[in-house]
Amino acid sequence: MTYQELKAEEEQYVMQTYGRFPIALDHGKGSALWDVSGKRYIDLTSGIGVNCLGYDHPVLTKAITEQIHTLMHVSNLFTTAPMVQTAKTLVSATGMGKVFFANSGAESNEGAIKIARKYAFDKYGMGRHKIVTLWNSFHGRTITTLKATGQTRFHDFFFPFTEGFDYARAGDLDDLKSKVDDSTCAIMMELIQGEGGVLPQDPTFVKAVEALCREKDLLLIIDEVQTGIGRTGSLFCFQQYDIQPDIVTMAKGLGGGVPIGAVMAAKSCCDTLTPGTHATTFGGSPTVCAAANAVLSVVNDPAFLREVREKGAYLKQKLLEFHSPLIKGVRGSGLMLGIIVPDGQHSALAQKLIAHGVLVLTAGQNAIRLLPPLTITYQELDEALALMQPVFCS
Ligand SMILES: *Cc1c(COP(=O)(O)O)cnc(C)c1O
Repeated sequence: MTYQELKAEEEQYVMQTYGRFPIALDHGKGSALWDVSGKRYIDLTSGIGVNCLGYDHPVLTKAITEQIHTLMHVSNLFTTAPMVQTAKTLVSATGMGKVFFANSGAESNEGAIKIARKYAFDKYGMGRHKIVTLWNSFHGRTITTLKATGQTRFHDFFFPFTEGFDYARAGDLDDLKSKVDDSTCAIMMELIQGEGGVLPQDPTFVKAVEALCREKDLLLIIDEVQTGIGRTGSLFCFQQYDIQPDIVTMAKGLGGGVPIGAVMAAKSCCDTLTPGTHATTFGGSPTVCAAANAVLSVVNDPAFLREVREKGAYLKQKLLEFHSPLIKGVRGSGLMLGIIVPDGQHSALAQKLIAHGVLVLTAGQNAIRLLPPLTITYQELDEALALMQPVFCS
C-alpha cells in the first residue's frame, strides 16, 4: 500500500488523536528506518525514547524470539525467572528495594502515586494525600497523571480530575516549600523535563528537594520514564544528581520497544503495597521482561554508558559548530538533547528535518528534541548531521 492509501484508511478507521508526520514507516535496521516508498531516514527519536537499542538489535531480537517460543505470557498469580531477573538487575544497580511491573509510563506513575498515598495513610491516617509536582512537567495521560502534570492545557475536558495535586516552579525552593503542608505526602519530578522542553533541573535545587523530603517524611518520586535506562549517560539520571529517591518510575526505554513500565521503591516504602492493593493483568510478563533483561544486559555497562555520554557530547558540539542563527543552544544530557530554536519555530523546523531524512521530535515551545537510539554509530550521527546542516544553514 502507498502512503496515500494507508493514510486514507487510517483516517477512516483510527481515532485522529495524533498530528502524525506524513510518512508511513515500514522497517528499520540499526538507527535507520525506511518508509513504505523505500526512502531511508536516520532516526533521532527511538519512537519516543523507546527503541534504545535501535532496530533489529541481535541481542534484543533473539531474547524476545526465544522467550515467545518458551513462554509468552502467564498471569501474576505465578512467578517467572525473567521477571525476577529484571527486578534483581534494577535493584542491584540502584540500591533501591523492590519493583512493581506495569505496562506504560503513566501506569508506573499511577503506581508511584498509590504507594505515596498509602505510605502516608499507613503512617499518619487520612488526609495526607497531596502530591506536589513541578510546572511544565509531564507525567502521563490517565485522568490522575494528567492532573499530576503541571501544564494547565492538560487539565481540560475530562472533568472531574483526581484531587490532591499542587504545582511549584522548578528551581524555586521557596515556592515549593509554600506548597508543602500537613496534607502533603510526596514530591514528584522529572530531572530533565522531557515533553516540557528538555529542561534539566538545577542540582542544588534537587538536593534541597531531597533534604525537604527527608525533613518532612515526604516521598521523593523521580519520574525517569524518559530519562531512565541509559538515556542521559547513566543507567538512571538520578545517579548524576547524588540523591537517593524513594520511588523511581520508568517505562519508555526499558523494553527497547515492547510495552513495559516499572515503579521501583526504596526499602522505606517497598512493602507498602500488599496483596490485593495493586495489580495489572499484563505487567511483568516473561516476554517483556526478557526484552528488558536484554536491554539491561547491553545498557547497564559502564563502557556503554560512557559511549552514550561521548556520543551526546559529539552531537552537541557538531550542532553548535553549524553556527546557525537558528540554533540558540543545545541542552540536555547524554543522548537526550534539545536544540533550542527561536520560539515557535520548532514544529516547522522538525518537519523540514524529517523531509530531509532525519527523524526528530519537538518539546516545549522552542526545542527540537533528539532521543536517538543509544546504539547509534558515529557514522549514523555524521549522516544525520550532514542531512541537518542544509536545514539549519541555508
Ligand atoms: C512519556 C512519559 C510519561 C508517560 O508514559 P506513557 O508510556 O506514554 O504512559 C510519563 N512521564 C514522562 C517523564 C514521560 O516522558
